[in-house]
Amino acid sequence: MMVELTNGARVAVGSIFCIGRNYAEHISEMNPTAQAREIKPVVFCKPRNALNTEVMITLPSASQEVHYETEIVVLLGKGGKNLSQAQAHACIQAYGVGLDLTARDWQQQAKQDGLPWTLAKGFDGAASVSQFIPASELEISQGLHFSLTLNGEIVQRGHSADMLWTIDEQIAYISQFCTLSAGDLLFTGTPAGVGRLQSGDNLQLNLMDSVQADFKVS
Ligand code: ZN
Repeated sequence: MMVELTNGARVAVGSIFCIGRNYAEHISEMNPTAQAREIKPVVFCKPRNALNTEVMITLPSASQEVHYETEIVVLLGKGGKNLSQAQAHACIQAYGVGLDLTARDWQQQAKQDGLPWTLAKGFDGAASVSQFIPASELEISQGLHFSLTLNGEIVQRGHSADMLWTIDEQIAYISQFCTLSAGDLLFTGTPAGVGRLQSGDNLQLNLMDSVQADFKVS
């Protein structure tokens, strides 16, 4: 499974890590009584079959409610264990934007039963990503902004300044437990505005007006 850089390079993907509950407004849209920042980041993984770089997205027919979650996705150019935040930052090779697709009905059932989210977050296509722009080509001193346009209407807008855990903190935290490697991807959490996808939907993802990706739901 490969992702493509805007300069044409292709990179084999390793592990796919994801951070949950990283924007306060999204936490309250999911659960109005939840506290904003938990003591530790919420980390989960997607299997590699979930990766999709093609235009078409096929929803799993057994789910009645697949949600889009638009997220900044980081591609690591190197890894390590027990990284400091500065070391974590130096591991970032490129930035993209992607969809952490979630079968919300399966996830709710799993939460209720105290079971893992793997299938709700790991079905084919559940990690749909754009191309990645090399970090060296992106001016990020003001942070990163991104959006999702669904059928012509902007439904999610996010900014890295609103993250509860910064990208560097996320990478450093995960590296305490999991040795990170070049090619690993990190989904960094979704802002508010998540919602249901339907057959025929057209999605346009934008990161910093520098990377765009179009997806269509079959
Ligand atoms: Zn997510």
